[in-house]
Amino acid sequence: MAQEDLFKKLVAHCKEYGFVFQSSEIYDGLSAVYDYGQYGVELKNNIKKYWWDSLVLLHENVVGLDSAIFMHPTIWKASGHVDAFNDPLIDNKDSKKRYRADVLIEEQMDKYEAKISKEVEKARDRFGEAFDEAQFRSTNPRVLANQEKLDALHRRFVKALNDSDLVELRQIIVDEEIACPVSGSRNWTEVRQFNLMFSTEMGATSESASKIYLRPETAQGIFVNYLNVQKSGRMKIPFGIAQIGKAFRNEIVARQFIFRMREFEQMEMQFFVPPGTELEWFEYWKEARMKWHRALEFGDDNYRFHDHDKLAHYANAASDIEFRFPFGFKEVEGIHSRTDFDLGSHQEYSGKKMQYFDPDTNKNYVPYVVETSIGVDRMFLQIISAAYTEELLTKEDGSTDTRVVLKLPPALAPVKLAVFPLTKKDGLPEKARTIVDDLKFDFNCQYEEKDSIGKRYRRQDAIGTPYCITIDHQTLQDDTVTIRYRDTMEQERVKVGVLKQTIKDKVDITNLLKQL
Ligand code: ATP
Repeated sequence: MAQEDLFKKLVAHCKEYGFVFQSSEIYDGLSAVYDYGQYGVELKNNIKKYWWDSLVLLHENVVGLDSAIFMHPTIWKASGHVDAFNDPLIDNKDSKKRYRADVLIEEQMDKYEAKISKEVEKARDRFGEAFDEAQFRSTNPRVLANQEKLDALHRRFVKALNDSDLVELRQIIVDEEIACPVSGSRNWTEVRQFNLMFSTEMGATSESASKIYLRPETAQGIFVNYLNVQKSGRMKIPFGIAQIGKAFRNEIVARQFIFRMREFEQMEMQFFVPPGTELEWFEYWKEARMKWHRALEFGDDNYRFHDHDKLAHYANAASDIEFRFPFGFKEVEGIHSRTDFDLGSHQEYSGKKMQYFDPDTNKNYVPYVVETSIGVDRMFLQIISAAYTEELLTKEDGSTDTRVVLKLPPALAPVKLAVFPLTKKDGLPEKARTIVDDLKFDFNCQYEEKDSIGKRYRRQDAIGTPYCITIDHQTLQDDTVTIRYRDTMEQERVKVGVLKQTIKDKVDITNLLKQL
Protein backbone atom coordinates (compact mmCIF):
# COMPACT_ATOMS: atom_id res chain seq x y z
CA MET A 1 0.00 0.00 0.00
CA ALA A 2 1.30 3.46 -0.84
CA GLN A 3 2.36 5.21 2.35
CA GLU A 4 0.07 8.18 1.66
CA ASP A 5 -2.91 5.87 1.34
CA LEU A 6 -1.93 4.18 4.55
CA PHE A 7 -1.87 7.51 6.34
CA LYS A 8 -5.32 8.48 5.03
CA LYS A 9 -6.64 5.13 6.21
CA LEU A 10 -5.15 5.66 9.66
CA VAL A 11 -6.86 9.03 10.02
CA ALA A 12 -10.20 7.57 8.89
CA HIS A 13 -9.77 4.60 11.22
CA CYS A 14 -9.09 6.86 14.20
CA LYS A 15 -12.36 8.66 13.55
CA GLU A 16 -14.49 5.64 12.73
CA TYR A 17 -13.45 3.75 15.86
CA GLY A 18 -13.63 6.56 18.39
CA PHE A 19 -9.93 7.36 18.82
CA VAL A 20 -9.55 10.91 17.46
CA PHE A 21 -12.07 13.47 16.20
CA GLN A 22 -11.50 16.83 14.56
CA SER A 23 -12.24 19.54 17.14
CA SER A 24 -15.50 21.47 16.63
CA GLU A 25 -16.36 19.25 13.69
CA ILE A 26 -20.01 20.36 13.43
CA TYR A 27 -18.72 23.91 12.87
CA ASP A 28 -16.39 22.69 10.10
CA GLY A 29 -13.55 22.08 12.52
CA LEU A 30 -10.78 24.10 14.10
CA SER A 31 -7.50 23.68 12.29
CA ALA A 32 -4.82 21.59 14.03
CA VAL A 33 -6.92 20.96 17.13
CA TYR A 34 -8.25 17.48 17.89
CA ASP A 35 -10.40 15.70 20.47
CA TYR A 36 -9.81 12.18 21.76
CA GLY A 37 -12.75 9.80 21.77
CA GLN A 38 -13.62 6.90 24.05
CA TYR A 39 -10.74 4.63 22.96
CA GLY A 40 -8.32 7.45 22.23
CA VAL A 41 -8.45 8.72 25.78
CA GLU A 42 -7.74 5.23 27.16
CA LEU A 43 -4.75 4.75 24.87
CA LYS A 44 -3.49 8.22 25.73
CA ASN A 45 -3.82 7.54 29.46
CA ASN A 46 -1.89 4.28 29.07
CA ILE A 47 0.93 6.03 27.18
CA LYS A 48 1.14 8.63 29.93
CA LYS A 49 1.21 5.95 32.62
CA TYR A 50 3.98 4.06 30.82
CA TRP A 51 6.03 7.26 30.63
CA TRP A 52 5.28 8.43 34.16
CA ASP A 53 5.97 5.08 35.82
CA SER A 54 9.18 4.58 33.83
CA LEU A 55 10.54 7.77 35.36
CA VAL A 56 8.84 8.46 38.67
CA LEU A 57 8.31 4.86 39.80
CA LEU A 58 11.59 3.40 38.57
CA HIS A 59 13.90 6.24 39.61
CA GLU A 60 14.20 7.16 43.26
CA ASN A 61 15.59 10.51 42.23
CA VAL A 62 12.84 11.53 39.80
CA VAL A 63 9.66 13.10 41.17
CA GLY A 64 6.55 14.57 39.59
CA LEU A 65 5.05 18.04 39.30
CA ASP A 66 1.86 19.60 37.96
CA SER A 67 2.41 23.31 37.36
CA ALA A 68 -0.15 25.78 36.01
CA ILE A 69 -0.48 26.64 32.34
CA PHE A 70 -0.59 30.38 33.08
CA MET A 71 2.67 31.77 34.37
CA HIS A 72 4.15 35.18 35.06
CA PRO A 73 4.84 36.78 31.64
CA THR A 74 8.44 37.59 32.55
CA ILE A 75 9.14 33.84 32.58
CA TRP A 76 8.79 33.83 28.79
CA LYS A 77 11.07 36.82 28.47
CA ALA A 78 13.70 35.09 30.61
CA SER A 79 13.37 31.81 28.74
CA GLY A 80 13.95 33.54 25.42
CA HIS A 81 10.54 32.61 24.01
CA VAL A 82 9.31 36.20 23.60
CA ASP A 83 12.30 37.13 21.47
CA ALA A 84 13.36 33.89 19.88
CA PHE A 85 10.55 31.33 19.71
CA ASN A 86 10.03 31.95 16.03
CA ASP A 87 9.63 30.02 12.83
CA PRO A 88 10.74 31.51 9.49
CA LEU A 89 7.64 31.74 7.31
CA ILE A 90 7.24 32.39 3.61
CA ASP A 91 4.05 32.91 1.55
CA ASN A 92 3.38 31.90 -2.00
CA LYS A 93 1.85 34.95 -3.70
CA ASP A 94 -0.32 32.92 -6.07
CA SER A 95 -1.84 30.29 -3.79
CA LYS A 96 -1.65 32.58 -0.70
CA LYS A 97 -0.46 29.50 1.18
CA ARG A 98 1.97 29.92 4.03
CA TYR A 99 4.96 27.63 4.59
CA ARG A 100 7.85 27.24 6.95
CA ALA A 101 10.94 28.17 4.93
CA ASP A 102 13.09 25.65 6.82
CA VAL A 103 10.58 22.86 6.15
CA LEU A 104 10.51 23.61 2.40
CA ILE A 105 14.29 23.28 2.31
CA GLU A 106 14.29 20.13 4.43
CA GLU A 107 11.78 18.58 2.03
CA GLN A 108 14.07 19.48 -0.86
CA MET A 109 16.92 17.65 0.91
CA ASP A 110 14.60 14.65 1.35
CA LYS A 111 14.08 14.66 -2.41
CA TYR A 112 17.84 14.35 -3.05
CA GLU A 113 17.97 11.53 -0.49
CA ALA A 114 15.08 9.79 -2.23
CA LYS A 115 16.83 10.04 -5.60
CA ILE A 116 19.94 8.46 -4.13
CA SER A 117 17.95 5.68 -2.43
CA LYS A 118 16.15 4.94 -5.69
CA GLU A 119 19.46 4.48 -7.53
CA VAL A 120 20.73 2.22 -4.75
CA GLU A 121 17.59 0.08 -4.76
CA LYS A 122 17.65 -0.23 -8.56
CA ALA A 123 21.24 -1.40 -8.43
CA ARG A 124 20.48 -3.80 -5.57
CA ASP A 125 17.80 -5.45 -7.72
CA ARG A 126 20.18 -5.62 -10.69
CA PHE A 127 23.22 -7.06 -8.89
CA GLY A 128 21.42 -9.25 -6.36
CA GLU A 129 23.59 -11.00 -3.76
CA ALA A 130 26.83 -9.56 -5.08
CA PHE A 131 25.73 -5.95 -4.48
CA ASP A 132 28.20 -3.86 -2.50
CA GLU A 133 26.24 -0.79 -1.39
CA ALA A 134 29.19 1.15 0.02
CA GLN A 135 31.18 0.74 -3.19
CA PHE A 136 28.18 1.68 -5.33
CA ARG A 137 27.54 4.83 -3.31
CA SER A 138 31.17 5.91 -3.59
CA THR A 139 31.50 5.33 -7.33
CA ASN A 140 28.18 5.72 -9.16
CA PRO A 141 28.25 9.10 -10.96
CA ARG A 142 24.53 9.85 -10.49
CA VAL A 143 24.65 9.04 -6.78
CA LEU A 144 27.81 11.12 -6.36
CA ALA A 145 26.28 14.09 -8.18
CA ASN A 146 23.16 14.04 -6.02
CA GLN A 147 25.16 13.50 -2.85
CA GLU A 148 27.29 16.52 -3.71
CA LYS A 149 24.20 18.67 -4.27
CA LEU A 150 22.70 17.43 -1.02
CA ASP A 151 25.86 18.13 1.00
CA ALA A 152 26.22 21.61 -0.48
CA LEU A 153 22.59 22.42 0.24
CA HIS A 154 22.89 21.07 3.77
CA ARG A 155 25.95 23.23 4.50
CA ARG A 156 24.26 26.33 3.13
CA PHE A 157 21.05 25.65 5.06
CA VAL A 158 22.81 25.08 8.40
CA LYS A 159 24.82 28.27 7.99
CA ALA A 160 21.69 30.31 7.14
CA LEU A 161 19.89 28.90 10.18
CA ASN A 162 22.78 29.52 12.52
CA ASP A 163 23.19 33.07 11.23
CA SER A 164 19.39 33.59 11.35
CA ASP A 165 19.85 34.86 7.80
CA LEU A 166 16.31 35.14 6.41
CA VAL A 167 17.44 36.62 3.08
CA GLU A 168 19.70 33.64 2.50
CA LEU A 169 16.91 31.19 3.42
CA ARG A 170 14.76 32.76 0.72
CA GLN A 171 17.64 32.69 -1.74
CA ILE A 172 18.09 28.95 -1.15
CA ILE A 173 14.41 28.40 -1.99
CA VAL A 174 14.84 30.46 -5.17
CA ASP A 175 18.12 28.79 -6.20
CA GLU A 176 16.75 25.30 -5.60
CA GLU A 177 13.71 26.23 -7.70
CA ILE A 178 11.33 25.05 -5.00
CA ALA A 179 7.72 25.48 -6.13
CA CYS A 180 4.55 25.83 -4.08
CA PRO A 181 2.87 22.40 -4.01
CA VAL A 182 -0.54 24.07 -4.42
CA SER A 183 -0.02 26.69 -7.16
CA GLY A 184 3.10 25.16 -8.66
CA SER A 185 4.59 28.67 -8.89
CA ARG A 186 7.85 30.07 -7.51
CA ASN A 187 6.38 33.44 -6.73
CA TRP A 188 7.54 33.80 -3.10
CA THR A 189 7.34 36.64 -0.56
CA GLU A 190 10.23 37.57 1.74
CA VAL A 191 10.92 35.26 4.70
CA ARG A 192 9.68 36.68 8.02
CA GLN A 193 9.95 35.51 11.61
CA PHE A 194 6.69 34.48 13.23
CA ASN A 195 6.35 34.05 17.01
CA LEU A 196 4.59 30.83 17.93
CA MET A 197 3.20 31.79 21.33
CA PHE A 198 -0.51 32.37 21.89
CA SER A 199 -1.32 35.24 24.20
CA THR A 200 -4.35 36.37 26.14
CA GLU A 201 -5.23 38.96 28.79
CA MET A 202 -5.44 38.36 32.49
CA GLY A 203 -7.32 40.83 34.69
CA ALA A 204 -10.76 42.38 34.98
CA THR A 205 -10.39 45.70 33.24
CA SER A 206 -8.50 46.60 30.14
CA GLU A 207 -6.31 49.06 32.11
CA SER A 208 -5.31 46.52 34.75
CA ALA A 209 -5.09 43.56 32.41
CA SER A 210 -1.70 42.16 31.57
CA LYS A 211 -0.70 40.13 28.59
CA ILE A 212 0.02 36.53 29.46
CA TYR A 213 0.98 33.57 27.32
CA LEU A 214 -0.30 30.06 26.97
CA ARG A 215 2.82 28.01 27.71
CA PRO A 216 4.54 26.70 24.57
CA GLU A 217 6.36 24.05 26.66
CA THR A 218 5.86 22.59 30.13
CA ALA A 219 9.56 22.84 31.00
CA GLN A 220 9.50 26.39 32.38
CA GLY A 221 7.02 25.34 35.10
CA ILE A 222 9.66 22.87 36.23
CA PHE A 223 12.55 25.35 36.16
CA VAL A 224 10.77 27.96 38.27
CA ASN A 225 9.76 25.29 40.82
CA TYR A 226 13.01 23.38 40.98
CA LEU A 227 14.10 24.84 44.32
CA ASN A 228 10.63 24.35 45.84
CA VAL A 229 10.80 20.67 44.94
CA GLN A 230 14.46 20.31 45.87
CA LYS A 231 13.99 21.84 49.32
CA SER A 232 10.60 20.35 50.21
CA GLY A 233 11.62 16.92 48.92
CA ARG A 234 15.20 17.17 50.28
CA MET A 235 16.41 16.14 46.84
CA LYS A 236 20.11 15.74 46.19
CA ILE A 237 21.60 16.48 42.80
CA PRO A 238 21.44 14.66 40.42
CA PHE A 239 17.65 14.54 40.44
CA GLY A 240 14.81 14.95 37.99
CA ILE A 241 11.34 16.49 37.87
CA ALA A 242 8.76 15.04 35.50
CA GLN A 243 5.60 16.69 34.28
CA ILE A 244 2.78 15.95 31.86
CA GLY A 245 0.66 18.82 30.60
CA LYS A 246 -0.81 20.84 27.79
CA ALA A 247 1.30 23.13 25.62
CA PHE A 248 0.21 25.54 22.89
CA ARG A 249 1.96 26.68 19.73
CA ASN A 250 0.54 28.73 16.91
CA GLU A 251 2.10 26.44 14.30
CA ILE A 252 2.31 27.96 10.83
CA VAL A 253 2.01 24.72 9.01
CA ALA A 254 -0.41 22.46 10.77
CA ARG A 255 -0.49 19.27 8.80
CA GLN A 256 -0.28 15.56 9.23
CA PHE A 257 -3.16 15.08 11.63
CA ILE A 258 -2.04 14.97 15.29
CA PHE A 259 1.65 15.15 14.35
CA ARG A 260 1.64 18.95 14.53
CA MET A 261 -1.13 20.52 16.58
CA ARG A 262 -1.79 23.95 18.03
CA GLU A 263 -2.89 22.50 21.37
CA PHE A 264 -1.03 19.37 22.41
CA GLU A 265 0.31 17.55 25.42
CA GLN A 266 3.92 17.14 26.45
CA MET A 267 5.71 14.77 28.79
CA GLU A 268 8.88 16.47 29.92
CA MET A 269 11.56 15.65 32.45
CA GLN A 270 14.30 18.04 33.52
CA PHE A 271 17.27 16.35 35.12
CA PHE A 272 19.46 18.63 37.28
CA VAL A 273 23.16 17.75 37.33
CA PRO A 274 26.47 19.26 38.47
CA PRO A 275 28.08 21.49 35.80
CA GLY A 276 30.56 19.54 33.71
CA THR A 277 28.67 16.23 33.97
CA GLU A 278 25.85 17.20 31.63
CA LEU A 279 27.18 15.47 28.52
CA GLU A 280 27.51 12.14 30.35
CA TRP A 281 23.91 12.47 31.56
CA PHE A 282 22.87 13.48 28.07
CA GLU A 283 24.22 10.16 26.77
CA TYR A 284 22.59 8.30 29.66
CA TRP A 285 19.12 9.73 28.96
CA LYS A 286 19.48 9.27 25.21
CA GLU A 287 20.01 5.55 25.73
CA ALA A 288 17.34 5.25 28.45
CA ARG A 289 14.72 6.94 26.30
CA MET A 290 15.57 4.88 23.22
CA LYS A 291 15.14 1.75 25.35
CA TRP A 292 11.70 2.99 26.43
CA HIS A 293 10.63 3.28 22.80
CA ARG A 294 12.11 -0.01 21.69
CA ALA A 295 10.47 -1.93 24.55
CA LEU A 296 7.19 -1.51 22.66
CA GLU A 297 8.61 -3.92 20.07
CA PHE A 298 7.64 -2.07 16.92
CA GLY A 299 11.04 -2.97 15.40
CA ASP A 300 14.39 -1.44 16.36
CA ASP A 301 15.05 -0.40 12.75
CA ASN A 302 12.11 1.98 12.87
CA TYR A 303 13.89 4.26 15.35
CA ARG A 304 16.98 6.38 14.94
CA PHE A 305 18.76 9.30 16.58
CA HIS A 306 19.07 12.55 14.71
CA ASP A 307 21.55 15.06 16.09
CA HIS A 308 20.52 18.68 15.64
CA ASP A 309 22.16 20.77 12.93
CA LYS A 310 21.26 23.97 14.67
CA LEU A 311 21.46 24.07 18.44
CA ALA A 312 18.87 26.21 20.22
CA HIS A 313 20.32 29.23 21.99
CA TYR A 314 20.24 27.38 25.33
CA ALA A 315 21.68 23.99 24.32
CA ASN A 316 25.16 22.46 24.11
CA ALA A 317 23.95 19.14 22.72
CA ALA A 318 20.63 17.95 21.31
CA SER A 319 19.36 14.82 19.66
CA ASP A 320 15.96 13.66 18.49
CA ILE A 321 14.55 10.18 18.56
CA GLU A 322 12.90 9.71 15.18
CA PHE A 323 10.38 7.10 14.16
CA ARG A 324 9.61 5.84 10.66
CA PHE A 325 6.11 7.28 10.16
CA PRO A 326 4.16 6.56 6.95
CA PHE A 327 5.48 9.95 5.79
CA GLY A 328 9.12 9.20 6.63
CA PHE A 329 11.43 9.38 9.67
CA LYS A 330 10.22 12.20 11.94
CA GLU A 331 10.91 13.43 15.45
CA VAL A 332 8.94 11.93 18.32
CA GLU A 333 11.12 13.04 21.20
CA GLY A 334 13.92 15.51 21.86
CA ILE A 335 16.76 15.05 24.34
CA HIS A 336 18.50 18.34 25.07
CA SER A 337 21.41 19.41 27.19
CA ARG A 338 20.12 22.85 28.17
CA THR A 339 23.16 23.94 30.22
CA ASP A 340 22.40 26.42 33.03
CA PHE A 341 20.72 28.76 30.56
CA ASP A 342 17.18 28.63 31.95
CA LEU A 343 18.01 28.64 35.67
CA GLY A 344 20.69 31.30 35.13
CA SER A 345 18.29 33.45 33.22
CA HIS A 346 15.49 33.12 35.80
CA GLN A 347 18.01 34.05 38.47
CA GLU A 348 18.86 37.19 36.54
CA TYR A 349 15.27 38.23 35.69
CA SER A 350 13.70 37.38 39.07
CA GLY A 351 16.61 38.51 41.24
CA LYS A 352 16.15 35.28 43.27
CA LYS A 353 19.01 32.85 43.77
CA MET A 354 18.54 29.63 41.80
CA GLN A 355 21.63 27.99 43.28
CA TYR A 356 21.85 24.57 44.78
CA PHE A 357 23.92 24.01 47.90
CA ASP A 358 25.96 20.84 47.58
CA PRO A 359 26.34 19.39 51.12
CA ASP A 360 29.23 17.14 50.06
CA THR A 361 31.45 19.92 48.74
CA ASN A 362 29.93 22.83 50.69
CA LYS A 363 29.63 24.75 47.43
CA ASN A 364 26.78 26.62 45.75
CA TYR A 365 26.17 26.35 42.04
CA VAL A 366 23.48 26.73 39.41
CA PRO A 367 22.82 23.18 38.16
CA TYR A 368 22.97 22.17 34.52
CA VAL A 369 19.94 20.52 32.98
CA VAL A 370 19.39 17.61 30.63
CA GLU A 371 15.80 17.34 29.44
CA THR A 372 13.77 14.67 27.71
CA SER A 373 10.72 16.02 25.93
CA ILE A 374 8.10 13.99 24.11
CA GLY A 375 4.67 14.82 22.75
CA VAL A 376 1.88 12.52 23.96
CA ASP A 377 -0.08 13.07 20.75
CA ARG A 378 2.91 12.40 18.52
CA MET A 379 3.64 9.24 20.50
CA PHE A 380 -0.02 8.28 20.05
CA LEU A 381 0.31 8.72 16.28
CA GLN A 382 3.54 6.74 16.31
CA ILE A 383 1.88 3.85 18.10
CA ILE A 384 -1.22 3.86 15.93
CA SER A 385 0.86 3.97 12.71
CA ALA A 386 3.04 1.11 13.89
CA ALA A 387 0.10 -0.96 15.11
CA TYR A 388 -2.27 -0.53 12.15
CA THR A 389 -2.25 -3.73 10.11
CA GLU A 390 -4.32 -4.99 7.21
CA GLU A 391 -4.28 -8.74 6.76
CA LEU A 392 -5.61 -10.65 3.78
CA LEU A 393 -7.46 -13.74 5.01
CA THR A 394 -8.54 -16.68 2.89
CA LYS A 395 -11.86 -18.10 3.96
CA GLU A 396 -12.88 -21.78 3.83
CA ASP A 397 -14.73 -21.25 0.52
CA GLY A 398 -11.58 -19.78 -1.05
CA SER A 399 -12.79 -16.16 -1.05
CA THR A 400 -10.65 -13.50 0.59
CA ASP A 401 -11.35 -10.87 3.18
CA THR A 402 -9.29 -8.09 4.76
CA ARG A 403 -8.92 -7.96 8.52
CA VAL A 404 -7.96 -4.59 10.03
CA VAL A 405 -6.22 -5.05 13.34
CA LEU A 406 -4.44 -2.68 15.68
CA LYS A 407 -1.50 -4.67 17.01
CA LEU A 408 -1.09 -2.52 20.10
CA PRO A 409 1.16 -3.70 22.91
CA PRO A 410 -1.40 -5.31 25.30
CA ALA A 411 -0.32 -3.00 28.14
CA LEU A 412 -1.35 0.04 26.08
CA ALA A 413 -4.54 -1.33 24.50
CA PRO A 414 -7.65 0.72 25.45
CA VAL A 415 -9.74 -2.40 26.11
CA LYS A 416 -7.94 -5.48 27.42
CA LEU A 417 -10.71 -8.01 27.26
CA ALA A 418 -14.06 -8.40 25.47
CA VAL A 419 -16.60 -10.91 26.75
CA PHE A 420 -19.22 -12.36 24.38
CA PRO A 421 -22.13 -14.66 25.12
CA LEU A 422 -22.54 -16.95 22.09
CA THR A 423 -26.29 -16.28 22.05
CA LYS A 424 -28.61 -13.90 23.84
CA LYS A 425 -30.49 -16.69 25.63
CA ASP A 426 -30.11 -19.81 27.81
CA GLY A 427 -28.46 -17.88 30.63
CA LEU A 428 -25.33 -17.14 28.57
CA PRO A 429 -25.59 -13.31 28.89
CA GLU A 430 -25.98 -13.63 32.68
CA LYS A 431 -22.90 -15.85 32.90
CA ALA A 432 -20.93 -13.44 30.70
CA ARG A 433 -21.97 -10.55 32.95
CA THR A 434 -20.70 -12.30 36.08
CA ILE A 435 -17.31 -12.71 34.41
CA VAL A 436 -17.17 -9.02 33.45
CA ASP A 437 -18.29 -8.02 36.95
CA ASP A 438 -15.46 -10.05 38.41
CA LEU A 439 -12.74 -8.82 36.04
CA LYS A 440 -13.71 -5.15 35.65
CA PHE A 441 -11.81 -4.20 38.82
CA ASP A 442 -8.57 -5.38 37.28
CA PHE A 443 -8.77 -4.16 33.71
CA ASN A 444 -10.90 -2.46 31.10
CA CYS A 445 -13.47 -5.08 29.95
CA GLN A 446 -16.22 -4.85 27.38
CA TYR A 447 -19.41 -6.83 27.13
CA GLU A 448 -20.91 -7.38 23.66
CA GLU A 449 -23.85 -9.51 22.61
CA LYS A 450 -24.87 -7.98 19.28
CA ASP A 451 -24.00 -9.55 15.87
CA SER A 452 -22.19 -12.77 15.02
CA ILE A 453 -19.10 -13.75 16.98
CA GLY A 454 -17.03 -13.14 13.83
CA LYS A 455 -18.22 -9.55 13.56
CA ARG A 456 -17.64 -8.97 17.25
CA TYR A 457 -14.06 -10.25 16.90
CA ARG A 458 -13.49 -7.83 14.02
CA ARG A 459 -14.74 -4.85 15.99
CA GLN A 460 -12.38 -5.70 18.82
CA ASP A 461 -9.49 -6.25 16.38
CA ALA A 462 -10.08 -2.77 15.01
CA ILE A 463 -9.62 -1.18 18.45
CA GLY A 464 -6.74 -3.47 19.38
CA THR A 465 -8.33 -5.58 22.13
CA PRO A 466 -5.80 -8.37 22.77
CA TYR A 467 -8.21 -10.96 24.22
CA CYS A 468 -11.80 -11.97 23.47
CA ILE A 469 -13.70 -14.53 25.50
CA THR A 470 -16.74 -16.46 24.36
CA ILE A 471 -19.25 -17.99 26.73
CA ASP A 472 -21.12 -20.95 25.25
CA HIS A 473 -23.31 -23.77 26.50
CA GLN A 474 -20.31 -25.80 27.60
CA THR A 475 -19.38 -22.93 29.92
CA LEU A 476 -22.52 -23.53 31.94
CA GLN A 477 -21.54 -27.18 32.39
CA ASP A 478 -17.81 -27.11 33.10
CA ASP A 479 -16.98 -23.43 33.71
CA THR A 480 -14.63 -23.18 30.72
CA VAL A 481 -14.56 -20.47 28.04
CA THR A 482 -12.75 -19.97 24.75
CA ILE A 483 -10.12 -17.28 24.75
CA ARG A 484 -9.18 -15.90 21.34
CA TYR A 485 -5.88 -14.14 20.76
CA ARG A 486 -5.95 -11.00 18.61
CA ASP A 487 -2.65 -11.39 16.72
CA THR A 488 -2.72 -15.12 15.94
CA MET A 489 -6.54 -15.51 15.99
CA GLU A 490 -5.91 -18.81 17.76
CA GLN A 491 -8.47 -20.02 20.25
CA GLU A 492 -7.99 -22.00 23.41
CA ARG A 493 -10.37 -23.43 25.99
CA VAL A 494 -9.51 -22.41 29.53
CA LYS A 495 -11.10 -22.50 33.00
CA VAL A 496 -12.86 -19.30 34.04
CA GLY A 497 -10.82 -19.41 37.23
CA VAL A 498 -7.49 -18.84 35.46
CA LEU A 499 -8.66 -15.90 33.32
CA LYS A 500 -7.83 -13.11 35.71
CA GLN A 501 -4.24 -14.15 36.31
CA THR A 502 -3.55 -15.20 32.69
CA ILE A 503 -4.73 -11.90 31.27
CA LYS A 504 -3.32 -9.76 34.06
CA ASP A 505 0.14 -11.24 33.48
CA LYS A 506 -0.01 -10.21 29.84
CA VAL A 507 -1.58 -6.77 30.01
CA ASP A 508 0.25 -5.48 33.06
CA ILE A 509 2.34 -2.39 32.35
CA THR A 510 4.96 -3.94 34.65
CA ASN A 511 5.90 -6.19 31.72
CA LEU A 512 7.05 -3.14 29.79
CA LEU A 513 8.69 -1.50 32.79
CA LYS A 514 10.74 -4.60 33.59
CA GLN A 515 12.43 -4.36 30.20
CA LEU A 516 13.84 -0.92 30.98
P1 ATP B 1 9.32 20.28 15.57
O1 ATP B 1 10.72 20.44 15.06
O2 ATP B 1 8.61 19.06 15.05
O3 ATP B 1 8.48 21.53 15.49
P2 ATP B 1 10.35 20.83 18.13
O4 ATP B 1 11.76 20.44 17.94
O5 ATP B 1 9.94 22.25 18.12
O6 ATP B 1 9.42 20.01 17.11
P3 ATP B 1 10.30 20.42 20.93
O7 ATP B 1 10.16 21.84 21.25
O8 ATP B 1 11.61 19.75 21.16
O9 ATP B 1 9.80 20.16 19.43
O10 ATP B 1 9.14 19.63 21.65
C1 ATP B 1 9.31 18.34 22.18
C2 ATP B 1 8.30 17.36 21.65
O11 ATP B 1 6.97 17.90 21.73
C3 ATP B 1 8.47 17.02 20.19
O12 ATP B 1 9.42 16.00 20.05
C4 ATP B 1 7.09 16.55 19.81
O13 ATP B 1 6.89 15.18 20.17
C5 ATP B 1 6.20 17.40 20.65
N1 ATP B 1 5.66 18.53 19.87
C6 ATP B 1 6.26 19.71 19.62
N2 ATP B 1 5.47 20.50 18.89
C7 ATP B 1 4.32 19.80 18.69
C8 ATP B 1 3.10 20.08 18.01
N3 ATP B 1 2.89 21.25 17.42
N4 ATP B 1 2.14 19.13 18.00
C9 ATP B 1 2.32 17.94 18.61
N5 ATP B 1 3.46 17.63 19.27
C10 ATP B 1 4.44 18.53 19.31
